[in-house]
Amino acid sequence: MYEIWGGWVITSEGIKENYSLAIEKGIIKDMGPRDEMRKKYNFEDSIGKYSRIVCPGFVDAHMHSFQIATKGLTADESLLEWLKKYIWKWEGELTKERAKACAESAYLHMLHCGVTTFSDYTSVHHVEEAFKAARKFGMRAVIGKTLMDRNSPPELQQDTDACLKETKSLLKKWHGQKKGLLSYAVTPRFCITATDDLLRGCKKICDQYKVLFRTHTEENMSEVKWERKEYGKSSIQHLDELGLLNERTLLTHCVWTSKKDIRLIAKNNASVSHCPGSNMLLASGAADTPYMLKKGVNVCLGTDVAAYYNFSMFEQARLACLMQKEERHDPHAMDHIRAFAMATKNGANALGLKHTGEIKVGNKADLILLSTTHLAFSPLNDAISQIVYSTFPYAVDSVICNGKVLMREREVLVADARKIMYRAKEILGVKK
Ligand SMILES: [Zn+2]
Repeated sequence: MYEIWGGWVITSEGIKENYSLAIEKGIIKDMGPRDEMRKKYNFEDSIGKYSRIVCPGFVDAHMHSFQIATKGLTADESLLEWLKKYIWKWEGELTKERAKACAESAYLHMLHCGVTTFSDYTSVHHVEEAFKAARKFGMRAVIGKTLMDRNSPPELQQDTDACLKETKSLLKKWHGQKKGLLSYAVTPRFCITATDDLLRGCKKICDQYKVLFRTHTEENMSEVKWERKEYGKSSIQHLDELGLLNERTLLTHCVWTSKKDIRLIAKNNASVSHCPGSNMLLASGAADTPYMLKKGVNVCLGTDVAAYYNFSMFEQARLACLMQKEERHDPHAMDHIRAFAMATKNGANALGLKHTGEIKVGNKADLILLSTTHLAFSPLNDAISQIVYSTFPYAVDSVICNGKVLMREREVLVADARKIMYRAKEILGVKK
């Protein structure tokens, strides 16, 4: 048993001062004022300082590790042009070696940003490289092969039965691995690249294995017009009719989703991963997250890298607030408390991970320590407000996942950070 402590600990019951957590076998066994905990337990190790904020690890509920090589090249395009010009081209040329370098580089970057759990949409090929990297890093990961059986470039489009068969085989091999740290998610890219047969096949697998169904929905106006012309209804209604809206569904974006469809999502207990940075960069629009939350939709946050350029969940929480204030000319439209929940416990709920995302006894020890010895915390008036509005990933001091220390005082303990950065520079550069 060891101790994690800080001057401020953000628990499910509020912020506690000079507080200590007892960690054993990956679980938060006990917590309380530090002086009492030190008398109660004989800790083998102690991680923390008075100048640290102990916070739940961030949950990046939507990202694409295999796209990171396009960082810096893709701004100033809208979704469909961005996909065709950069992303599908890169994904079509992806090799096993590049997939490995992408995944390791992305997960290293996420560690530095205080992410302990992520939902990675890989590409069509080399999916196992993401699982292997996540296993090496010891992070909590939900990973799945992207499925496309129509309207896609030939090197990425697959036969319906073949891609469903591969999904099943990857799921059987990886779901629940590494003591449950790794999960599989069935992942069609979006409705216009998936036939109804593919979507029905996805539902069958999700029902059989009780795994997450996730897909991009209603991100961009051109995409939405295309879908409405084809289906005569929205893609949300189409997914509902196929039985694909339920508590194990995670819809990404929902920028152009009507209020009626938001109520449909709420009624079916599906979740939405909101990606404000990506929606702003690709000029997609502003999702109506205040209405979603009001109607009881579980809204979480994703960076959507590479439709955004970094893995900072501080930044996504900040943008989630600023986007709504700006869009609605209402300072109360979104606040730091709701944004912080979206970046932590709502993400865990959306991914079906019930025992993480919050600091409370019995939960998994998925934690980060933030250093307050930065100007962003001088003075420290409101820890959550300053996490959302003031600070950057440089404040992340240590990262713990499932009780294992992955980064301690900025030193990554689970991988050779220099080697990974060198490999990324060496083999991932994309020539224009
Ligand atoms: Zn995405």
